[in-house]
Amino acid sequence: MENVAKPTSINLLSPDSTRFLISNLCSILETYLKPVEVREVYCAYLYGAEAHEGQSRQSGEPYIYHPLAVAKTMAEMRMDAQSIIAAILHDVIEDTVTIKSQIDEEFGTEVAQLVDGVSKLTHLTFKTRIEAQAENFQKMMLAMVKDVRVVMIKLADRLHNMRTLGAMLPHKRWRIARETLEIYAPIAQRLGMNTIRVELEQLGFQHLYPMRFKVLETAVNRSRGNRKELMKKVEATICHRLEEVGIEARIYGREKNLYSIYKKMRHKRLSFRDVYDVFAIRMVVKDVDTCYRALGTIHNLYKPVPGKFKDYIAIPKANGYQSLHTILFGPHGILIEVQVRSDEMDRVAQVGIAAHWLYKTGDRVNARAQARTREWLKNILELQKSAGSSLEFLEHVKVDLFPDEVYVFTPAGEIRALPRGATAVDYGYSVHTDIGNSCIAAKIDRRLAPLSSVLQSGQTVEVITAPRAQPNPLWLNFVATGKARSNIRHHLKNLKQGEALHLGRRLLNKSLARYNLSIKKLNGQQIDDLLNDLHVETFQILLEEIGLGNRMAQLIARRLGNPQIKTPKVSKKSAESKPLPIKGTEGMVLQYGKCCYPIPGDPIIGIMNAGRGLVIHRENCRNVTDDRKRPDKWVQVYWSNNVEGEYTAIIRTLAYNQTGMLASLAAKISDQDSNIENVTLDERDGSTTNITFQLAVKNRKHLAHIMRLIRKTPQVYKVMRTRG
Ligand code: MN
Repeated sequence: MENVAKPTSINLLSPDSTRFLISNLCSILETYLKPVEVREVYCAYLYGAEAHEGQSRQSGEPYIYHPLAVAKTMAEMRMDAQSIIAAILHDVIEDTVTIKSQIDEEFGTEVAQLVDGVSKLTHLTFKTRIEAQAENFQKMMLAMVKDVRVVMIKLADRLHNMRTLGAMLPHKRWRIARETLEIYAPIAQRLGMNTIRVELEQLGFQHLYPMRFKVLETAVNRSRGNRKELMKKVEATICHRLEEVGIEARIYGREKNLYSIYKKMRHKRLSFRDVYDVFAIRMVVKDVDTCYRALGTIHNLYKPVPGKFKDYIAIPKANGYQSLHTILFGPHGILIEVQVRSDEMDRVAQVGIAAHWLYKTGDRVNARAQARTREWLKNILELQKSAGSSLEFLEHVKVDLFPDEVYVFTPAGEIRALPRGATAVDYGYSVHTDIGNSCIAAKIDRRLAPLSSVLQSGQTVEVITAPRAQPNPLWLNFVATGKARSNIRHHLKNLKQGEALHLGRRLLNKSLARYNLSIKKLNGQQIDDLLNDLHVETFQILLEEIGLGNRMAQLIARRLGNPQIKTPKVSKKSAESKPLPIKGTEGMVLQYGKCCYPIPGDPIIGIMNAGRGLVIHRENCRNVTDDRKRPDKWVQVYWSNNVEGEYTAIIRTLAYNQTGMLASLAAKISDQDSNIENVTLDERDGSTTNITFQLAVKNRKHLAHIMRLIRKTPQVYKVMRTRG
């Protein structure tokens, strides 16, 4: 439904055509920019010409032709000075940091950021051939840019590359053409930039399917010859009628874009005649009111085809496009497609988002790019509101321009969408639950990265798994997806249940030993009676409850030992004779008090805590004084001989201030195979510092050894273990 711009050829230029190109550009700019801005653009040209000095394009032209052509496309859309300058400089960066900071200095941060944004998109390559991925790739590109002008420059860049594609090798040409049709033309469409979109499609089609293009072109030319006269007559009749009723209008006969004919034939399985045998006319008038009057006039002239009238003025298209569309029965039964629109709408239809770029008041100083884009969205929203229809389209546009999602590549080049803020762990779970559950590390852009790394659009992500790895409860602090969260919780719950069951069994056996009993020796009747008594469904649930600290093993053992006694007497001392060994492998149902940080070797006591299970404290911990008076709450425990794992201990060090001291202490600690989990520094006065280390140690001996070494350091005058 679009008319095709006559390709502008740069082959007509004289040998000193660089000068021609820049003066041509400047004369366009002078029509809408301030002289000082035009001068700045000229400076950018001098800068760019020097940067590309000696380089030439595949076609043999000096390189600077290309950026100037890109800038001209931007100027034709009346884009601001920054965009024009960035367009001229868009190819100079190529990874050199110095040049980026130079551009920043000479042309300002905004231009530097635009140029940088374009370079980033240039380095993003679309590898996969799966068609469904193309849309994700479009979204990825849009998600990567903070300023929509970057996309506009990229589209202008692609347009010029397509115009000069003939110089490329066939396989490259084919790849670039396909990418243009699948990625760039749809993006141009989303932004409403139809003039660019139509040309991208035309050129893409021509290079990707040269044979089909030729066949269609020939067919179009043939039918055009046949109908020229008739077409002219219709136009003249309409013109005449409009004049009679006093409506001023510009009337264009339109030709359909070959690619859109091709697509229609393909998708709707129509013959060339069905698609093409329609006349198309566009009428541009001065305002909305005139649009409807003009429509009424032509409906009076030719009968409209029922059901074909569309009012895109009242209900604009998602990208802001507005027009009245209708189809008429013309003379000799031919169909005439008509679009009626105002000048304003015509401009939007051609350049889309760019139409909203410069403020008409001339006040265009320093409005931020984001604000302008929002302005564009707001304009569209206003249009839509006045039409009183759904907001669905806004969702569509908003998602496209400010996505709440990030798009990353799998190692195989597939694209995955994740919510903003998603981490490597979320990625793992998005691939497969098992992968999430067993991931231990991540690679981002082929480099090792923490699992908590927040992903950015365009990155390639891979997670490394280990067969027996398990989810870490700490992941819950940073995962962003519901899938990851629920899977981690589910896994931890299962894990905790298993561990609770195990601990519950140990605690009950220990308590039963006093009555010369054990779980194995219990018969079915005993267990059934017990469960009935306690109103618990299964023995397994009962053991879990014991392990979680919700029920006391001693009471249950007593019931089983002396079934007559329903309310047991509590002796002053602990009812237990045999203490419970702590192995360090109990898992989540056993915790170590954060008040006293017990480590193997410390005298300890266990306190049953409802829901949390068994908490181990140092015997002299102040927090357990009350609980000790209640024998049903505490359990005798001791460190098993072969206790495993690492335990947190806190030591405080007082030392005289000296540079590098913290580093040397830290080195001593890690030399002893201890991890520093946390350090806090607190300068007491000018001369001394209080350093608190939170360490992971194996046992008391290990800790004592470390403390001895620290004490030997000359600047240190005091080291002590604290209770937390
Ligand atoms: Mn370029």
